[in-house]
Amino acid sequence: MSRLISVKQIESTSKVPEAEHKIQPRSFSGFYRRVRITGGVVLFALYFGVAWLDWGGRQAVLWDLSAKKFHIFSATFWPEDLVLLSGILLICAFGLFFLTVLAGRVWCGYACPQSVWTWVFLWAERVAEGDRSKRIKLDAAPLSVKKIVRRGSKHGLWLLISLLTAITFVGYFTPIRDLVGDLFTLEASGWALFWVLFFTAATYLNAGWLREKVCFHMCPYGRFQSSMVDADSVVISYDAERGEPRGSRRRDAMPASVELGDCIDCQLCVQVCPTGIDIRDGLQMECIGCAACIDACDSIMDKMGYARGLVRYASERDLKGGKTNLLRPRLVGYFAFLVLMIAVFAWGVASRPLITLDVERDRGMYRYTNAGEVENSYLLKLTNKDNSQKYLIIEVEDPLRVSTTGPLGVVVEAGEKVEVPYSVALPASALNAGANDIVFQISTLHGEKELITETSTFLAPSEQ
Ligand code: SF4
Ligand code: SF4
Repeated sequence: MSRLISVKQIESTSKVPEAEHKIQPRSFSGFYRRVRITGGVVLFALYFGVAWLDWGGRQAVLWDLSAKKFHIFSATFWPEDLVLLSGILLICAFGLFFLTVLAGRVWCGYACPQSVWTWVFLWAERVAEGDRSKRIKLDAAPLSVKKIVRRGSKHGLWLLISLLTAITFVGYFTPIRDLVGDLFTLEASGWALFWVLFFTAATYLNAGWLREKVCFHMCPYGRFQSSMVDADSVVISYDAERGEPRGSRRRDAMPASVELGDCIDCQLCVQVCPTGIDIRDGLQMECIGCAACIDACDSIMDKMGYARGLVRYASERDLKGGKTNLLRPRLVGYFAFLVLMIAVFAWGVASRPLITLDVERDRGMYRYTNAGEVENSYLLKLTNKDNSQKYLIIEVEDPLRVSTTGPLGVVVEAGEKVEVPYSVALPASALNAGANDIVFQISTLHGEKELITETSTFLAPSEQ
């Protein structure tokens, strides 16, 4: 087996200041890498694909900032539905709490965009500059045409991925087909251009340059995970009982014959770690749970003819010879709350009114009509959150005494809002002095008997 040297050893022998403190993770294949790649491909496909999906004649997922509405497939959400959208955030938060108590930072390792994009950037780096040893040599090499070409290719690939990421991201807030067309014809608005450049720079910096520093210093999750993980959380762990005392040996030497544990101190688990830590030091805030060290160590165990799992998913209790308790109160509590939140959210979405009416009374006072009646003016705001066009009939309660000026009905397209100026006149004899209640009613023609009522104020003379 070739001799493997550690990051610390390499750094201490390097004469190039650029190489100091720089983490150059080694690429390593294995079961968990395949899981990560599969997860990353699915997330990438969703992220880049959904933006181009059409649904009912419009973009399937679009947060239309100018129209202040959020389309997600057949549903349209308006600012007044924000409470429902904040429900999604709560569900995500409790889902994360549940996952952390169950299995540590699996979210960070497999699905967090920062990790997924960093893995993709690492792949681009490997394509342009080679694997770890070549990159370290390149870092140490003097400036040359070859170095400039390799560095240039890497940054070119990073910028391309960042640009595509940014265009897609902005495309979730402004129709992506228009945006891409405008960018190609140089007709994009200043704001669209600004946000595309802003998110290109943010992606390039975060996934290319900052990488694990985002997890260490900017993400709060890494800090509170240590308070959530308990003795039964199944996290990536080094089995010190089995591995110590560590030490190098001949390939065919069995641990008992050399009076050593199973760890051959090859440092491979450190070399593959994207955050540059040593899992043998125990659970650390810097560990993002990517499981690269498991793949690396398992391969060493295979080569040595030892059982796999010196580094593995295990709870503290399991490592001490006990049995992991999955049904503990905190975990069950988070799970129950998560299910409850999902149920409440589903009920909230299913039962929200799809037609809404907002009545704004004209700021002016009352006036008299030619017929001597008292008249007030309103602006009716009708919103259709359904995915089909609606013909809405507008009425005022007690129509016998009421005469109205305004349309009898109005067509509202799916996911649209219309404003209807509307006047109501009543005989002075039917009114109390000052403020009176007036009830507007909306019904639909198309089968369903939805009836929305909204009470407003009708002003009459204070003395009659
Ligand atoms: S210690 Fe292992 S699981 Fe944690 S970040 Fe490093 S390689 Fe990934
Ligand atoms: S834990 Fe495994 S990979 Fe890490 S140094 Fe020991 S034998 Fe090598």
